[in-house]
Amino acid sequence: MTGLSEVMLDIRKKQRVKERSPREAAAFWTSDDLLEGVPVKCYTIIFQTRGCYWGQKGGCTMCGYIYDSASIPPSTEDLIAQFDSVADRIGEGVVKIFTSGSFFDVREIPESVREHILTRLNEITDKVIIETRPEFVTDKTMVSSKALVDNMEVAIGLETSNDDIRINSINKNFLFKDFVRASETAKAHGVTTKAYLMMKPPFISEKDALDDMVKSVMDAAPYAPTISINLCNVQRGTLVDELFYRKAYRPPWLWSIVEVIKRVHGKTGSVIMSDPLAAGASRGPHNCGKCDSDFANAIRKYSMTQDISAFDDLDCECRSLWEKVLELEDWTFGAPLIY
Ligand code: SF4
Ligand SMILES: [Zn+2]
Repeated sequence: MTGLSEVMLDIRKKQRVKERSPREAAAFWTSDDLLEGVPVKCYTIIFQTRGCYWGQKGGCTMCGYIYDSASIPPSTEDLIAQFDSVADRIGEGVVKIFTSGSFFDVREIPESVREHILTRLNEITDKVIIETRPEFVTDKTMVSSKALVDNMEVAIGLETSNDDIRINSINKNFLFKDFVRASETAKAHGVTTKAYLMMKPPFISEKDALDDMVKSVMDAAPYAPTISINLCNVQRGTLVDELFYRKAYRPPWLWSIVEVIKRVHGKTGSVIMSDPLAAGASRGPHNCGKCDSDFANAIRKYSMTQDISAFDDLDCECRSLWEKVLELEDWTFGAPLIY
């Protein structure tokens, strides 16, 4: 076990997990997404499962999703009840299925439950996006699922194309080549891949985080028709949370994600998206406080239109501060200069 996993296990032990009925989904909400370039409704379901197996071994340094998992592993009937409790609210558009782990890990979702959910979703919606770690994208899982769903995508938390950052900063425990293999396996079965990237995991400076996202988008694009850039936010019970508490971590500037998108726009064949969750909060991506909502709206607008003019009117006096951070933060070994 790596040192980071031991640190993560220690942090996880201190957390209290809230008790919930095993028959209720952890969360369900409706938002917007693009389907073949057209804005559509998007339904997101987060199942309560026994949790991500990697998270139970400590897991990733920024991930608090493990606390969404059930305190007692749900039965097959419980998992089906979770789905049935939200199924009536789903319609045409896109459905995203998350488990705060891997939908294709049979320890979380047994095959009979997977079959029930996918068969029903194929009847009521247009596309199903399924979150999983790459090791569960196999010929077996793709054949059995694709037989049930016409339009399917696997969503993989690649986080970065840089193995050093993924292992030593995120503690994700897989390599870029594992993501490539998963994407190629999916493609061979007519399944597309969505890559989730993570901007500014701990221990790296703002400038390194920016450069890493530009390179990661370019590296992932040949394997992922959709790339979604998550901006690291400070989730409770994580190593990022401990660093934040000690003033050793600051979430990314919104200027930085806009710069990333400007640098990669038009250079890949992929749709590039970002949903700046918790934008403007100290625990979320933010600028100076005055311009945060304008930036968040522009980033959301770009994601839905892929039109770079969404950023035309963005300006604020905090730009020069952000530029100084890019210039100087490398000299502080990643410790933030400004919060
Ligand atoms: S980020 Fe994904 S792989 Fe990592 S611990 Fe969380 S759910 Fe598991
Ligand atoms: Zn500002």
